[in-house]
Order: sequence, then C-alpha cells, then structure tokens
Amino acid sequence: EYFENVISGNSDKFDEQDKVLRSPAIRRRILVTGGAGFLGSHLCELLLEAGHEVICADNFSTGLRRNIESLTRFNGFSLVDHDIIEPIDVEVDEIYNLACPASPPHYQADPIHTTKTCVLGSLNMLELAARNGARILQASTSEVYGDPQVHPQVEGYWGNVNPFGPRSCYDEGKRCAETLFFDFHKTRQVEIKVVRIFNTYGPRMRPDDGRVVSNFIVQALKGEDITIFGDGSQTRSFCFVDDLIDGFIRMMASPTSLTGPINFGNPTEFTIAALAEQVIELTGSRSKIVHRPLPVDDPRQRRPDISLAERELGWRPKVELAAGLVHTISHFDALLAQANELME
Ligand code: NAD
Ligand code: UDP
Repeated sequence: EYFENVISGNSDKFDEQDKVLRSPAIRRRILVTGGAGFLGSHLCELLLEAGHEVICADNFSTGLRRNIESLTRFNGFSLVDHDIIEPIDVEVDEIYNLACPASPPHYQADPIHTTKTCVLGSLNMLELAARNGARILQASTSEVYGDPQVHPQVEGYWGNVNPFGPRSCYDEGKRCAETLFFDFHKTRQVEIKVVRIFNTYGPRMRPDDGRVVSNFIVQALKGEDITIFGDGSQTRSFCFVDDLIDGFIRMMASPTSLTGPINFGNPTEFTIAALAEQVIELTGSRSKIVHRPLPVDDPRQRRPDISLAERELGWRPKVELAAGLVHTISHFDALLAQANELME
C-alpha cells in the first residue's frame, strides 16, 4: 500500500506512512562513512533518533568531532577513525557511503587522495556490502553532469566533464564510483541506491568550508567583503539539509528495483549575485560585494529535474531558500560568538 501511494503520488498518505517507515520496527545496524561531516552528522542523528544502531567511519579530513559529540548520548552510536581507501570489516545491514570532501578547495587540496576516496573507497564499501548482503547508498553528485549543456539536468544526461581539470579528481572520481556501483549490482547482485546530490547547505557546515553559502554568511556576519567569483550570473539551486536527508531515508527504504541514479536537490534556481543579496539582507550586514576571478571549469548553470524523485518517492524539498538561510545564519552566528568568547 505504501508504494502504491508513492507511485500514485498520494503524498498526504505518504507522509503518514513515512512516519511508520522511520520507526524502527526492525532495528538496523547502519554504517555511515563520512558521518562526522556536514551531511553525515545530520544523517547519523536522524537514524539514531529512529532507534537504529549507527557506526560512523570518518578520517576527520574535513569532518569535525564537535558535529558528532552530542551523538554519544545514544548507546547505539559508535565511531571508527578510519580512512575508507583501506578496507574495513564490520557487520552491517545498510551502508551510506558519504565519505569524501565536497567543497572545491578541500577536494582539490589533495586531488589524488580525493580520487582514491571516490574509487578505492567505493570499491571497499561495495565489497563490504557484498559480504554482508547489505544495501548501500552512494552520495553521488550533480558534478557528474560537469558544466551541463542540458538544462535542467535529467538523470539520463551523460554530462560534460573535463577529465584532467582542477575539478576532475572529484567529478571523474564520482563518475567512476557510479560505474562500480552499477557493476556490483549487475555482476554481484548488490542492492544499490545512487543519489545525485545538488548543492546542499545548512547548520554544521564549517566556517572555512569554502562553499558559497557558508562563505557568504560568514563574510556577512564578520562584516568582511563578500567574494563573488566572476560576474555572479552563474546559477545554482540550493537545497536545505533536512530536505536532502529526508530524501536519503526514502531512497534507502524504496523497492530493490529503484537503484537510481536519482537527482536530489531544490529545483529553484538562483544566480550567485542574487544569493549574495539575500544573505546581505537577512543578516543586515554592511559588507560590500567584491568580484574575484571565476575558477577554472566552474559550471555556468545548475538545476535538478526532480520528477523521478517526485514520482518514485513522493519527495520534494519543502524548505525555501530564505527560511533555510535563516537557520544557517543562526548556526554561524552562534559559532562566531563562541569563537569571540574564547578570544576574550
Ligand atoms: P563534508 O566535507 O562536510 O563531509 C565529508 C566527510 O567525509 C568528512 O567528515 C570527512 O572527514 C570524511 N572523509 C573524507 N574523506 C574520507 C576518507 N577517505 N575516509 C573517511 N572519511 C573521509 O561534505 P558533505 O557536504 O557532508 O558531503 C558528504 C557527501 O555528499 C560527499 O560524498 C559529497 O561528495 C556528497 N555531496 C555533497 C553535496 C553538498 O552540497 N553538500 C553535493 C553533492 C555531493
Ligand atoms: N562562489 C563564489 N564565491 C565564493 C565561493 C563560491 O562566487 O566565495 C561561486 C562558485 O564560483 C560557484 C558557485 O559559487 O559558481 C557555487 O560554488 P560552490 O563551491 O559552493 O559549489 P559548486 O561550484 O561545487 O557547485
């Protein structure tokens, strides 16, 4: 009945049934790689709140201990300090493979390690899934579309990616990871869920993450110049973290036949200049806008076509940009206030 409602788009009923889905009728043992990162820590928290056992594996390259500190209150939580480019042996029912730096300055800092994380890391997690008969979800990315020539991006579009530019370690790494996921599914019957995530923001991003939303908010709160790369006419579509994590949970619980790839993102598109103006308005900042050179291979436009997620999962983001920004601004406000107290 649940899936009939999803397929027929009866979303009110879906919401009721979604609560049942989240309740731990069966307590599962779940590995979250990259669980100390921005998205991973929100996912771990939601899974623990639903009563599951969660093992967080992280090498803390971009993840933070403070993101998972509060999770020690759950007795089902455990942490393994582990780099997924090495194999790991744990007994699990499900795996969410999120480990990988996601911000351009961070994934470009050690590009070879980024490719290894995407490719060897995925291989190790797929071997683990095969040994355990576990379902595995891969955090893929809109970057597999590169600088897209099809707009909005549908899952059937193969993309426009430079194989050896500054973004390639991430883009091609994630593309190769998708190849591995589908080949493990075909040849070893591993149950896979490949989700292509579009720009997502929210509390627990690092102040020095380097991505545009956190950069603009931190600059605005500190009264520093807001750095628009290029003329600001390039576009992105920003999804609030809670909406995305809701999509992950629905995807993991979907029928085996739904492997993806499936787009998850907010379909409302903004120019980067418009984002800067919104941040200035919501923070009441006096920061000035300054322009810096556009990074090499920076995609011109990006917006997900989410009809597949709507049809198959009854999923659609609910949080509008202004509301999501207000939450994120208060996170950074609190963080900067704490840092100031420590300095005093
Ligand atoms: P993040 O940098 O905050 O988190 C990544 C986490 O992975 C960190 O905790 C980091 O320490 C850990 N990690 C990195 N390499 C590792 C390795 N080799 N072994 C173990 N742990 C490792 O980034 P995020 O935004 O939370 O992204 C999480 C995942 O989602 C990534 O795979 C990213 O590619 C994907 N994604 C995110 C977005 C987004 O907008 N947030 C968009 C597309 C895809
Ligand atoms: N960007 C910007 N100023 C910044 C950081 C990023 O103008 O301080 C731009 C960047 O050039 C890109 C867009 O914002 O066009 C989104 O960048 P981000 O790094 O957040 O994500 P991605 O490029 O990976 O989508």
